[in-house]
Amino acid sequence: MSDCIDELLSPSVTLPIALPQLVPSRSCLQCDVCCRFPDPDSSLRPYFTGDEISRALAGGMEGTAFPDRGGSQVALVPVPHGEGYLCPAFDSTTSQCRIYEQRPLDCQLYPLALMWNEAHDQILLGWDTKCPFMREEIPGEIQHHADRVMALLDQPGIREELVTHPRLVGRFQEDVIVLAPLPDMTAAVAARWGTLSLQRLTVEDIPRLTMALEQSGFGGPQSPAAYSPVYHYMSNGLLAYWWMELHGALCLFAQSPDGWFMLLPPLGPGAIDAPLSAAMELLRRWNGDSSVSRVENVSARLAPEFERLGYRLTPKESDYLYCATDLAALAGDRYKSQRALCNRFEREQSCEVDSYQLGDREGCRALLGDWSRQKQEEGLESFGEMLLADAESVHEVLWSHAPVLQIMGTVVRIQGRICAYTFGYWLTDRTFCVLLEVADRAFPGLAQFLFRETCRMAVSKGAGYINTMDDAGLPGLRASKQAYHPALLIPNFVASPARES
Ligand code: SF4
Repeated sequence: MSDCIDELLSPSVTLPIALPQLVPSRSCLQCDVCCRFPDPDSSLRPYFTGDEISRALAGGMEGTAFPDRGGSQVALVPVPHGEGYLCPAFDSTTSQCRIYEQRPLDCQLYPLALMWNEAHDQILLGWDTKCPFMREEIPGEIQHHADRVMALLDQPGIREELVTHPRLVGRFQEDVIVLAPLPDMTAAVAARWGTLSLQRLTVEDIPRLTMALEQSGFGGPQSPAAYSPVYHYMSNGLLAYWWMELHGALCLFAQSPDGWFMLLPPLGPGAIDAPLSAAMELLRRWNGDSSVSRVENVSARLAPEFERLGYRLTPKESDYLYCATDLAALAGDRYKSQRALCNRFEREQSCEVDSYQLGDREGCRALLGDWSRQKQEEGLESFGEMLLADAESVHEVLWSHAPVLQIMGTVVRIQGRICAYTFGYWLTDRTFCVLLEVADRAFPGLAQFLFRETCRMAVSKGAGYINTMDDAGLPGLRASKQAYHPALLIPNFVASPARES
């Protein structure tokens, strides 16, 4: 064993849990259900605890598979030259798991599954009807197997692991047949986390989140771009997002490697006092005394309310807001350089501009790979490197869910190849947000051309303003956003509870 592997398998790493298996290996090898997923952020991706991640890394998995080394769902990879996504440990040539002996508890359990009931107040053990073998199995055999597994799950070491990593318990699934409720485990999880109604954010929750935002009335042309579900959902493959109702308001949380925080103020029709106080109480419980407990994206409009409630406000990067017709026209001296670049692109290239379709995913993926290499060759600020590393996951989520997230995408083709794409969304009836833009850097003026076309499209649909979000503190990005002459910088704050002296 190499030194490197010795280091990964430190003495604190416990041995893998071994659960009995019901499905014979020969059936698994002939099946194409497990380890494959339709979406990059599938809620069914296996969850690895910190120890399981250490063992998987020692078994040869790449560090990029795990956004949080303390415990995370695995980051899926696209099926090469096909549809859908794979667990990165899955070898599609042999249909085998490359870390089979070290695979996580989540995978060992399958085709059994731990999940919440529909009311989200009871943990259940069930079996997944998606498994073809189980559909043919004798019910008595399934129950016998489940009894053995339940006895093992009840052992103190395994119970503690489940309580520490509640993401091992999935959301209610209609196609999972319930075998037994697990009241002791439910009580243990509730004792540790204080509440049972915390739910992972999935794409099905987007309408609920949209409605809560509307009820809150916090949106408006001068709200930060973060006052939109899509802004948060696109990072769902990276961070774990959760939500729950507190005093009639929807509270949106993120679980980062540093701890838990709120992504937005509580969203609901009433005052924020009671839900905010309950949410901060939960954050204290989950994070202890850590300063990570905070509320992100407090708008200028809500800032006085937070101050009244005793919070400290720290400014974060502002969003850039532009007059949409200025960017669509690029008229006058102040837009001379952008106009010249657009003209050069139109003079030198002939291109087609189309709406993004799901079938464009592979072309966009190839372009993102080329573009990332171009950016790296040009040299990046360190934070820019980090953003680039995260880009793949964010873009995969957008490519997969563009229609359901109501994101508008545009692609530019040159000689049939996708050479640029962009995505954006309507923050309000009059404000269009540009989420991201990728343009092959080998074509001078392509990025400026695509941005102008996007603004023209937005104006034709009634946009008065274009929001291009913040500059992430990157000087290069700041300079290019400033060069388009923003009409307004939208203030945005982080609210932290005042510390007791
Ligand atoms: S870890 Fe192995 S068993 Fe689990 S999903 Fe990945 S490839 Fe499949």
